[in-house]
Amino acid sequence: MTLADRAALLGFSDIVKIRNRVMDMRARGQRVLQLEGGEPFIGTPDFVKEAMKAALDANHTRYAPSSGIPQLLDALREKLARKNGIAVTANDIIITSGGAHGLFCAFQASVSPGDEVMFFAPYWTPIQDQVRYSGGVAVRVPWDEVRGGDMRAALESRVTPRTRVIYVNTPANPTGDVLDRGQLTAVADFAKAHDLTVISDEAYEDLLYESGHVSLASLPDMFPRTISVFTFSKSFSMTGWRIGYVVAPETFMAFIRKLVLNSVNGVSTPTQHAALAAVTHDPRFFDRIREEYRLRRDLLVGGFRKAGFDCLTPPGAFYAFPDVRARLGDDSWKAMETLLERTSIASVPGAVFGPEGEGHLRMSYSTDLEVLEEAVQALRSL
Ligand code: PMP
Repeated sequence: MTLADRAALLGFSDIVKIRNRVMDMRARGQRVLQLEGGEPFIGTPDFVKEAMKAALDANHTRYAPSSGIPQLLDALREKLARKNGIAVTANDIIITSGGAHGLFCAFQASVSPGDEVMFFAPYWTPIQDQVRYSGGVAVRVPWDEVRGGDMRAALESRVTPRTRVIYVNTPANPTGDVLDRGQLTAVADFAKAHDLTVISDEAYEDLLYESGHVSLASLPDMFPRTISVFTFSKSFSMTGWRIGYVVAPETFMAFIRKLVLNSVNGVSTPTQHAALAAVTHDPRFFDRIREEYRLRRDLLVGGFRKAGFDCLTPPGAFYAFPDVRARLGDDSWKAMETLLERTSIASVPGAVFGPEGEGHLRMSYSTDLEVLEEAVQALRSL
């Protein structure tokens, strides 16, 4: 018996190594200021939990249509029109088992072996794996080059006859970068000029602190070439519920439906009813949450700056990505170890997010204020 050849194409997150190291320390009774994670610090809201309980009591526990329950698809259609400026029908939407599953479907539906896939780097680690697993060739565009620079020029300088797809994640993990309407218009014009497919990962669409979120598929003539991937994970603190959705034109959707049918055969029915309560809830819900995150961001970023680190103020998501070279050296794995030993702050080495992340650490400020205050205090004595 032999393992399938395709197994060689997939990696397993290095972040697991850090999690194990943290668990070891805690098992030995050491205190760890855990900033290495990537989850909302707020619990799942009661209105979502209540809807789940009601769905169970109403016996919404049988197979649903594999693309999603009609009420949820319709509510998402309304949300996409109102909030994202994407006008679609329910047929253009499919429920997936979280954003990760949606991205898997998006890459499998758009990348053929040998196709070049562009994305900004440092990148969210699984993207490199998704590109490889779909047979694609990664082409990284440094965030440093587009942040305040010429987006179109950065993209044009890397295009080849094999370029087929560009993956865009705004707000971004791990850097917290946000692309504004002007930059996204440049991406859209580039995609149209070279007939590319765009995969738009909007996992953090509700976590922007200085401006509003712009969806690529809402820009003129972009919906026919864009696969948009959304999730309930970050917006509604539902990381463990595993529900998200993909919005795509029929060109891709016909195959994505088959992928969903043949992989998970639809997302858990009661979970879809809970998601319906989330998406139809008063959107002012996010105003308070955003303020909570902003407070935490400013606290942590301020702490790093005062401790002599070069740290941009990230306009979105819930990560800070300080440059630690001046204080902790060039090797981010060593820097992670040093910071953990000297301050008890757990972080993720930037190198995990690609070579462009080297010399940086990723820290999530999505945690209790007391933990962040302690971290800032510890940084002072570093
Ligand atoms: N995209 C990005 C950029 C993310 O950071 C994450 C979660 N860390 C996801 C997608 C997927 O999240 P989920 O599978 O929980 O929906």
